[in-house]
Amino acid sequence: MKSLAEIVDQLQDFDPEGLKAEQVSAFLAEMVEPVSEVERVPLLAALDRVLAEAIISPISVPPHDNSAMDGFAFDGAQLQPGTPLRLRIVGTALAGKVWKGAVGEGECVKIMTGAVMPPGLDTVVPQEHTKQEDHHVVIPADTLRRGANRRHRGEDLTIGQQALAQGERLAPAALGLLAGLGLTQVPVYRRLRAAYFSTGDEILSPGEAPKEGSVYDSNRYTVLGMLTRLGCEVIDLGVVGDKPNLLEATLAQAASQADVIITSGGVSVGEADHTRKIMNKLGDVVFWRVAMRPGRPMAVGRIAKPESAHEGAVCKRQDTLLFGLPGNPVATMVTFLAFVRPALLRLMGARPQPTVLLRATCEHPISKKPGRTEYQRGIVTQHPGGRLTVRITGNQGSGILSSMVDANGLIVLEHEQGNVAAGDEVGLLMLES
Ligand code: AMP
Ligand code: MG
Repeated sequence: MKSLAEIVDQLQDFDPEGLKAEQVSAFLAEMVEPVSEVERVPLLAALDRVLAEAIISPISVPPHDNSAMDGFAFDGAQLQPGTPLRLRIVGTALAGKVWKGAVGEGECVKIMTGAVMPPGLDTVVPQEHTKQEDHHVVIPADTLRRGANRRHRGEDLTIGQQALAQGERLAPAALGLLAGLGLTQVPVYRRLRAAYFSTGDEILSPGEAPKEGSVYDSNRYTVLGMLTRLGCEVIDLGVVGDKPNLLEATLAQAASQADVIITSGGVSVGEADHTRKIMNKLGDVVFWRVAMRPGRPMAVGRIAKPESAHEGAVCKRQDTLLFGLPGNPVATMVTFLAFVRPALLRLMGARPQPTVLLRATCEHPISKKPGRTEYQRGIVTQHPGGRLTVRITGNQGSGILSSMVDANGLIVLEHEQGNVAAGDEVGLLMLES
């Protein structure tokens, strides 16, 4: 495993005073290696878990040719252009109840959606396209082609084919697919354990009496919420004051329990000294100023697990990841979404997914300096015809959490971008509802 310093050395134009957001992402992609422990879980417990092995289809889906419509099944070779076709009904094929009889020329079987196609029959005429008269149906001329409304065995998945790839994060559609293969359990990577604590002498927990100069802890709730949505087991370590011994004890405890530690606050320049000292004493951590807004200061690294042996300051792969996020509530959320979330998905073993950045027309000018990435909280509107426009949610201060609540998307103004004029297109990341 590469040390943090080695990874840093690889980054082009590395400037710890003003790292580009994409350099931080590149660094994290190098640094984070997926967990390897696998467990088998029942399908219903597998939502949002990550597949640890490819799934090879043990059967064909559908397992037999079947009807796509309620109607009449017949041998389509009898269809003649310009000529209606009259067929005698000799039986009924129901879903789950196979028709066993023989069907000859001039005959058909009444069939329901999903019923197995009787042997020799390849075409289904939907009931509503026919006229029925005593035990016969009449198919008007030129209403359908041979082979119509028949679903083929294996047209979804064939036996032996890869149904899902390793690293698939199991959405409801994937669970349905696995169930359709008759599987009851799936191999998934184990869940991540994520520990979180807020730092700052001024931070109160909700329920505590208000105190002069204090603020209530928002970040614990936003971060634990985002971790829960990612499917992590969360370890809530509360609020830790700016006391070196407390910070050290909490970090050590978190490292022994968790795969990843997330903190907020205490990493900006004014305060970083004792935080930096303790984090470096317990592990291998870099402190950065990222050229982005909100969210400039950030610490990233590893904290040694008590049981792991060390070669100098270089931690091992199994040591606990650390993300020290900035304390301002919007900065905490934005840095989590930009950096922590993709890193944790990687740690969970999930295959990287491309970020879908939409384009929207900005309703008003935005002043923006080139040389940093900015995330502005936006309200996106879709107009008739589908055109998207976006406007910011008002005060974009990094402590204004109400503007994050109002937002349904983040306007992403990339590193080199300058001022935005009204009517310009901007990048847009939709926020999950
Ligand atoms: P810091 O990053 O520690 O310099 O904090 C930056 C700002 O964010 C300060 O105004 C803090 O009071 C505020 N802050 C830090 N942590 C929290 C938190 N957990 N909840 C709400 N505000 C916070
Ligand atoms: Mg602080």
